[in-house]
Amino acid sequence: MTSKRGREIQPFMVMEVLEKAEELERLGREIIHLEVGEPDFDTPQCIKDACCDAMQNGKTHYTGSLGLIELREAICEDYRQRYDVTVHPDQVIVTSGTSPALLLLFSVLLEPGEEVILPNPYYPCYPNTIQFVNGRPVPIDVSEDEAFQYEPDVIRKTITPRTKAILINSPSNPTGHVMDPERMADVSRFEPYVVSDEIYHGLVYEGEARSILEFTDHAFVINGFSKLYAMTGWRLGYVIAPKPFIRPMQKIQQNLFISANAMAQWSALAALTRARTDVDHMVRTYNQRRLYTLKRLKELGFGIAVEPTGAFYILANAKRFTDHSYDFAFDMLEKAGVGVAPGIDFGTNAEGYVRFCYANSLENIERAMDRIGQYLHNLKS
Ligand code: PMP
Repeated sequence: MTSKRGREIQPFMVMEVLEKAEELERLGREIIHLEVGEPDFDTPQCIKDACCDAMQNGKTHYTGSLGLIELREAICEDYRQRYDVTVHPDQVIVTSGTSPALLLLFSVLLEPGEEVILPNPYYPCYPNTIQFVNGRPVPIDVSEDEAFQYEPDVIRKTITPRTKAILINSPSNPTGHVMDPERMADVSRFEPYVVSDEIYHGLVYEGEARSILEFTDHAFVINGFSKLYAMTGWRLGYVIAPKPFIRPMQKIQQNLFISANAMAQWSALAALTRARTDVDHMVRTYNQRRLYTLKRLKELGFGIAVEPTGAFYILANAKRFTDHSYDFAFDMLEKAGVGVAPGIDFGTNAEGYVRFCYANSLENIERAMDRIGQYLHNLKS
């Protein structure tokens, strides 16, 4: 018999849309993928070159469990340049992606039953990871009229003696919104730690994303290379933490993972130091797609109360068309050949919404919008 933990962890629904899409593709259907949250760009050449160099030069062994010192120093320098904050390499642990970073962090932060406040809609792996280590996710509904941002008064009322952390994710998956600095300041003044997932930093098209470390040291940063550097398959991320938390995470890393992939770490160093031109190009391109997708979705009748300015997502209100985003997403996939993520995947408060990922070519987005237009037209008739 499998364990309770193994039985109870929830699946990641968007992956199920993808799996269905792949099944249709095997049957010969042509599907446009706007469901999965990953860059369509290839990893920049300078990063791939650094990987080949690392392999050729025999850097193919374990690294220290905290990660290469060269990479940890570069991460600190990156945070200094971007946000003018001081981070020491001994506050950084490099992990095999941002997902294991979340696992390590919540493992050393939470006693059983301790609570983490998170916004609803949320990235689904947050509550699942918190529950996996016997913590308690406490979602707070945030509203589209407020650009899906926390109301500090609601947080205040939700904090209990068991609240260990407040989670923020700006720019956000699934909403694409960037948090106002005033709200970050508000969140940083509460007693619990702030856990800030900064994986979409750099993918900001208007204004700027601020790091939580500009506001408080009573915080953890989760970050990684998957999104900004188009490195999802390389599996590399990190945690920046107050120093007392590093040693416990290091011990878990030693036992569970030993170290992150050595070649990927050398490649990530190149990402931080050499990939600026490539990143600028990707960011400009995402922005064109964002503007185009927003325009088309509005014309199609989707609700977008405040235009998102970051990441590569639009969480659009589809309540005019459906109360069941799961059925709607699968029906649209079957009939229109377009994959989208059902809002319900991101929490009860996102029911009636669908998430569009615009990390796809303008040409594909244009064809997807045409197909969705036809699909919605048929729904009515
Ligand atoms: N956080 C957020 C908000 C994400 O959207 C993702 C990827 N979908 C992750 C963390 C995990 O990223 P990775 O493990 O590829 O670094």
